[in-house]
Amino acid sequence: MMADPLRGSTGLEGTEHVEIYLDGQWVPPEAARVSVFDHGLLYGDGIFEGIRIYGRRIFRLDAHLDRLWASARALALTIPLDREAMAAVVREAVRRNRQEDGYIRLVVTRGAGSLGIDPASCPTATVFCVVTDIHVYPRELYANGIRAITSATRQVSHEAFDPRVKSLNYLKNVLAKIDARQAGADEAILLNTAGYVAECSADNIFVVRTGRLLTPSPQDGGLEGITRGAILELAAEAAIPAAEARLTRYDLFTADECFVCGTGAELMPVTTIDGRTIGDGRPGPLTRRLTTAFHALARHEGEPVW
Ligand code: PMP
Repeated sequence: MMADPLRGSTGLEGTEHVEIYLDGQWVPPEAARVSVFDHGLLYGDGIFEGIRIYGRRIFRLDAHLDRLWASARALALTIPLDREAMAAVVREAVRRNRQEDGYIRLVVTRGAGSLGIDPASCPTATVFCVVTDIHVYPRELYANGIRAITSATRQVSHEAFDPRVKSLNYLKNVLAKIDARQAGADEAILLNTAGYVAECSADNIFVVRTGRLLTPSPQDGGLEGITRGAILELAAEAAIPAAEARLTRYDLFTADECFVCGTGAELMPVTTIDGRTIGDGRPGPLTRRLTTAFHALARHEGEPVW
């Protein structure tokens, strides 16, 4: 059994047979190394996707590849594989590792170049794909909900850098997570520079108010999450009213329910924010209903890849 990649050191120690895709080769973890001249490392110049595997099915690979290519376009980064070849790499990674359920990390960096910032010194992008187990939060938190805080770390403004790009620059998210930990909480909510709710350190956010599902628009500074998109679809199918809305801390504190969502965390109820109890302090009925619907969707959508 692999260790948790989001908590452990490499997460891949002690594994029997792990194959990582790196620039056209399939290599064991100890050989999966990138150059100290890689601009992904030197400047955070790169992009990534985190993708789930449910029962040998890859959840919404097309949507992840759409977002990866959009991020690449935004950064003028040339991905050295075409889309079909990239999809084939991801499927092959799941197959080779015999992964039933788990997580795929697909990364494209600017590649190795000179120490200067100019991407022109990097002739070819670096591509790697790692498949592993995943447990972002302990199981009991899904039943009881997490404690969140609003972080003093603000979402970066689109005037500086559009946060819809899923880039390797996660320092604001890391700082927000540190803020959460130091406050004894599990997750941090980032407000944008105008004080509206944007997203969380690694998740999107929803609130429920009088039976309506509300989530910030990506214009307020958040990733266009694949999980968020699936939840909006499920709400539409179940005739649950849902809309994008501009939310303040007041809207969080006075919500009937709140949950965060992302590929890693899936749907996670939030039961306190900045020390205020949300609703009755238990995961709410709409959160639980959508969680059940999401798991049913994830288990059955698409074809198993092995
Ligand atoms: N926001 C941020 C900052 C994220 O890193 C993520 C992905 N972990 C999300 C939102 C959720 O996006 P997705 O549902 O596509 O994983």
